[in-house]
Amino acid sequence: MAGAECKLVGQWLQIWLEAGREGQVFTYGNPAALPVQIGDLVQVRLQGRRHSGLVVDRLEELPAALEGKQLQPVEQVLQPAAVDPQWHTLIARVAEQCHTSRFKTLKSALPPGWLGQRRQGGPGTARIQAVRLGRTPAADERLTARQRQLLDHLAGAPASVPLRRLCGPAGFSRAVLLGLEQRGLVERLTLEAGDLHAAMAGALDPPQPLTVPQGQALEAITAAAPGQAFLLWGVTGSGKTEVYLQAAAHCLGQGRSTLLLTPEIGLIPQLLDRCRRRFGAAVVEYHSGLGEAERIAAWRRCLGGDPLVAVGTRSAVFLPLPHPGLIVLDEEHDGSYKQESPMPCYHAREVARLRAEQTGAWLVLGSATPALETWLACQGQTGGTTRLLSLSERIGGRPLPPVRLVDMRQELAEGHRRLLSRPLLDRLQGVRERGEQAVVLVPRRGYRTFLSCRSCGEAVLCPHCDVALTVHRSAGGQEWLRCHWCDHRTAVEARCGHCGSTAFKPFGAGTQRVMEQLAAELEGLRVLRFDRDTTRGRDGHRRLLARFAAGEADVLVGTQMLAKGMDLPQVTLAAVLAADGLLHRPDLRSAEQCLQLLLQLAGRAGRGERPGEVLVQTYCPEHPVIRHLVDGRYDRFLEDEIALRRSGGLVPFSRACLLRFSGTSPGSTATAAASVAEQLRPALERNGWCLIGPAPAPVARVAGRSRWQLLLHGPAGGPLPLPSEAELRRSLPSGVGLAIDPDPLSL
Ligand code: ADP
Ligand code: ZN
Ligand code: ZN
Repeated sequence: MAGAECKLVGQWLQIWLEAGREGQVFTYGNPAALPVQIGDLVQVRLQGRRHSGLVVDRLEELPAALEGKQLQPVEQVLQPAAVDPQWHTLIARVAEQCHTSRFKTLKSALPPGWLGQRRQGGPGTARIQAVRLGRTPAADERLTARQRQLLDHLAGAPASVPLRRLCGPAGFSRAVLLGLEQRGLVERLTLEAGDLHAAMAGALDPPQPLTVPQGQALEAITAAAPGQAFLLWGVTGSGKTEVYLQAAAHCLGQGRSTLLLTPEIGLIPQLLDRCRRRFGAAVVEYHSGLGEAERIAAWRRCLGGDPLVAVGTRSAVFLPLPHPGLIVLDEEHDGSYKQESPMPCYHAREVARLRAEQTGAWLVLGSATPALETWLACQGQTGGTTRLLSLSERIGGRPLPPVRLVDMRQELAEGHRRLLSRPLLDRLQGVRERGEQAVVLVPRRGYRTFLSCRSCGEAVLCPHCDVALTVHRSAGGQEWLRCHWCDHRTAVEARCGHCGSTAFKPFGAGTQRVMEQLAAELEGLRVLRFDRDTTRGRDGHRRLLARFAAGEADVLVGTQMLAKGMDLPQVTLAAVLAADGLLHRPDLRSAEQCLQLLLQLAGRAGRGERPGEVLVQTYCPEHPVIRHLVDGRYDRFLEDEIALRRSGGLVPFSRACLLRFSGTSPGSTATAAASVAEQLRPALERNGWCLIGPAPAPVARVAGRSRWQLLLHGPAGGPLPLPSEAELRRSLPSGVGLAIDPDPLSL
């Protein structure tokens, strides 16, 4: 097609093709005047090959560089109006806020594989394996305990249950299932994703009669003006989820959709079950645990236009929800809502705010330990308009567990120099005797935190990263070293790399060593480990927690992931082994995040009938975080912390932006960072910003790549005095990568 011909039609389209890793935008003509809209998926050619591309913009004028060039035409529309124009406005605003391109933002927002789809068939028709009850077992039929449990599980579930959920979250093995299937006690069937939702819609649960505070919160939300934001502040078990569900029901009744976000993929099944029992087929899930086809199917359901309740993690904030009425972020303080890489480095809370303003949906941020920024937004001091609703008591009036400290200096002074203090051992003993359960938080996984040389004192480092290797232990007791950053594995070195000595001393205890110590101190105690090593694979979290909930162990020893949202009614003791490891991180948000974590952990204890207790071992009982933990007044902590940040002019009373550089060559990475710093300095200084660095990143080398960073610091609220990402990239040598985080979570 000649360029002139296109000009007559007066329509040039910017089309994003996923050619190469980054994706790129090309200009096409539309000589046939096809009815093309922004957001359509169209077919075009690039170097003779057919591609599907997304229309991201329409041009009024042809860029000078293309003047007189032959433009290829759009051949056909594959998927009309893939997403509505309003949604594209959202993408444009997120791109702008995150200081990156529309195209990168689109790529992050759309389901993976969206561009590769065909018009018919293909990914839209996801098939899912499900299981349902078969014939009724005879009264005297011999079944294993596990087989009976599976039958009970199915009897209590809607008509059919996806296979992957039985084998995942519910923790049944394929062998158990197969045994039942061979005898006709269960049947396996293959369903289209859409049918599955219908098949799962058995009898629905009625809403619970609300408590007075719950009723007030619901009333405030459903009577609010469009776009109103709320902080629902309530301890774990105070009935926040019930409020979300009833607000969602209200919206469904008005033909509007709800988006329900949770930070952890491990929390999805629990929330999904609750939503499905309440809303049946109206529920759709969207998170990285789903396959490509399932995600595309969920996206398509949203485009279908019927009101929904969508349940998902961070990336679900971009779902093209039809008629949004309510957006909920549960555990809104959680750092997993922030995308660190790749760009855009967005925060789901901010995207949700934009979306709520744009569509008039209510925004509900729920947490027992809200983020400092959210708290401030409730006080109107930052011009914010978020309204605070609180649920101050647990349902049923169950008390929050008291927090007791164990001063480890005292333990030491009294000649007890072990990892597990005497009060902790006493309580674990008691928990076991009463048939209850305990969770124990250990900051690190592995066996020992690091090895150090006895003669020169140097730690044994990873050859590819600037971090010490962690000691792990195999089931047979064999020790080996592992890097937690790049996963490099090696045998324990025979000689020190610095001085040649052969003697090493191990420091710091990880989850494995704590398990070992527990076994040594309390004979016969049954312990399970819950960390990244034991929860790999799809549904690894849920499988392990299901084993613990089923009573397979007395104690669950785990890393930070222990603290997140699980409802384990048998747990009456929550313990922290070395709180000090969490207290002293050099980060702006370390106090806030540490207290959030400890309070979340405390929330694990005493959720059932029996009262709970929290035990914290520390060398630093006078630390403000520990003091606030004991008095249980998170709001007072926030007030203190806000005063501190305000007087120091720290975030969020100022604004920070981090530029991260990485490259294989340490020299050129450092040089690139330095030259960008010089390029930026004049404009920054003119605008009252300062520039810190370039400096090596806190871990200066990871997996053989050098990492440098530039921290920009300036007045809150103002724009970033930075050239565009594309412009910054142009000044970088090849081989040096750049990421811009305009609001970094760790500082
Ligand atoms: P949160 O989300 O704050 O942790 P949930 O909504 O999960 O709280 O409620 C905690 C427990 O109390 C759940 O088992 C829930 O079913 C129950 N619950 C919630 N609201 C009520 C209510 N109004 N009456 C009775 N039980 C309730
Ligand atoms: Zn040495
Ligand atoms: Zn490494």
